[in-house]
Amino acid sequence: MNCKANKGGTVCAYRNCSSKTGGLVSLFRIPKDATQAEGWLKACNRMDLASRSAEDLHKNFRLCEKHFENKYFPVVVKPERDC
Ligand SMILES: [Zn+2]
Repeated sequence: MNCKANKGGTVCAYRNCSSKTGGLVSLFRIPKDATQAEGWLKACNRMDLASRSAEDLHKNFRLCEKHFENKYFPVVVKPERDC
């Protein structure tokens, strides 16, 4: 682990994924739209976050590009790039 990476680094919200911002993979913010945000949470097995507001999810949680390769991932619009 690189200690310097702590600054501003956000870890991917996907269960058991440790990708971070500032690393080799791109991370995408969870959409502000509540319906879409819920779809993302389901897809990444994080329904424990479902009680949070979409705004909060959008600000604080990201998913890395690895999970967008899944054909069943319910992303309709291209997510906002955040790197
Ligand atoms: Zn990930």
